[in-house]
Amino acid sequence: MTIVLYPGTFDPITRGHVDIASRAAALFGTVVVGVYDTPNKSLLFDTATRVRLAKGALTHIENVRVIAYQGLTVDFAQECGAVAIVRGLRAYSDFENELQMAHQNRALRPLIETVCLMTSLEYSYLSSTLLREVARLGGDIRSLVPENVELELEARFGAETHHDAIPRHLHS
Ligand code: ADP
Repeated sequence: MTIVLYPGTFDPITRGHVDIASRAAALFGTVVVGVYDTPNKSLLFDTATRVRLAKGALTHIENVRVIAYQGLTVDFAQECGAVAIVRGLRAYSDFENELQMAHQNRALRPLIETVCLMTSLEYSYLSSTLLREVARLGGDIRSLVPENVELELEARFGAETHHDAIPRHLHS
């Protein structure tokens, strides 16, 4: 059975991430979704919450496991018995980063491949950063995240996240 690792920050998991995880699950025996514990960026959710949200969003995919990890991604991939690291590509702007990372990872562990899957067009503009901003400002996030994540973001930002965006004084 072929195991692959889909690593990321998942802060929080979006429909774009779920799309990549399900594409990978259709191609490989087991997909380990690795939630990186200490990324070099400020986080909205702690690791336990990011793992819980990812698990909730992926329960419908039978061959996906969600596990938090620390340290080098390639070391965790090796530990999982993964033959490849899966990453998602949205726009061309992702490519340069992913290429650099893939080369670095290959230098560290030559036997672990990197496989990039293209996102569905509808999620190609979606990032966790953008999502957090829309949620914080009370925008409609229902098309961007699974329901469990929507509820968590509503609780975090303490407001309805899908109210009418037209200011009241502009209503005729
Ligand atoms: P990281 O900090 O490792 O980039 P992210 O959680 O931001 O972690 O992303 C994890 C992976 O998922 C990356 O390969 C990223 O390109 C991919 N990804 C993020 N958003 C989307 C999306 N909307 N569609 C497809 N892939 C995505």
